Amino acid sequence: MLRQVAEGVLVHQSAFCQTNAVVVQGAAGVLLVDAGVRDEEMACLARDIADLGQSVVAGFSTHPHWDHLLWHPGLGAVPRYGTARCAATVRDRLSDAGAKARVAQLIPPDIVDEVPLGLLGHVTGLPAEAERIPWDGPDLRMIEHQAHAPGHAALVIEERGVLIAGDTLSDVLVPLLDFNGAADPIEDYLWALRLLEGAVGGVDVVVPGHGSLGRGDEVHARIEQDRAYLHALRGGDIVSDPRIGPSAVYAWVASVHERQRQNVVRGREHNTAH
Ligand SMILES: [Zn+2]
Repeated sequence: MLRQVAEGVLVHQSAFCQTNAVVVQGAAGVLLVDAGVRDEEMACLARDIADLGQSVVAGFSTHPHWDHLLWHPGLGAVPRYGTARCAATVRDRLSDAGAKARVAQLIPPDIVDEVPLGLLGHVTGLPAEAERIPWDGPDLRMIEHQAHAPGHAALVIEERGVLIAGDTLSDVLVPLLDFNGAADPIEDYLWALRLLEGAVGGVDVVVPGHGSLGRGDEVHARIEQDRAYLHALRGGDIVSDPRIGPSAVYAWVASVHERQRQNVVRGREHNTAH
């Protein structure tokens, strides 16, 4: 089911991890951001778009993680974009013959058979200096940063007051850090939050990659909540955060947090030893 969140901006939520696909209406069709996860849900989304009398003219992946790189044949063979760094990461990680088998290992076993990997990661990188997605529709400004994954981009639709946040600013997931090679993943993430803070002046609604929409004051509150989590993690403080507390929506987030905490402690010990 498509739900309108602002004029010409609709969201389709997956039952898997509250994953949000975002549909943006343009002059000649829609642009689809992070199409979804399960085959049946993406087929349903394709039907919903057709029922609106629209067709998909382009896609965009916010970052190079499997659950943001999927596509369904029913959505059409259209250009699918990502930042240059996102596309380069997809090429590095997914162009060999064993890639799909590796990705299948990352997918929760209960849904792996329902996730279509045929069109996984067919992403064209936009030029590194590009600020906007090239298409005939409202301006989609990319806020590129290195929090969570290489070449991650949030999208601001200024004329609609919408921020499509990718995997930041979620009410169900704490900031998930990218420990693969980043020198200071917490600082990368804090930097991303500063960029987002500078971009949300006219934003009324934030659509996270996973979780529920945040409206009004909630936009800044989400930024503050992610920042507080990161400061506590960095400081080795006890983290009090509803996303990992007793009322957490996903119990597994607490174990991811614990792994992150251990990683940060190890990094600190490593730095003191050298
Ligand atoms: Zn991700």
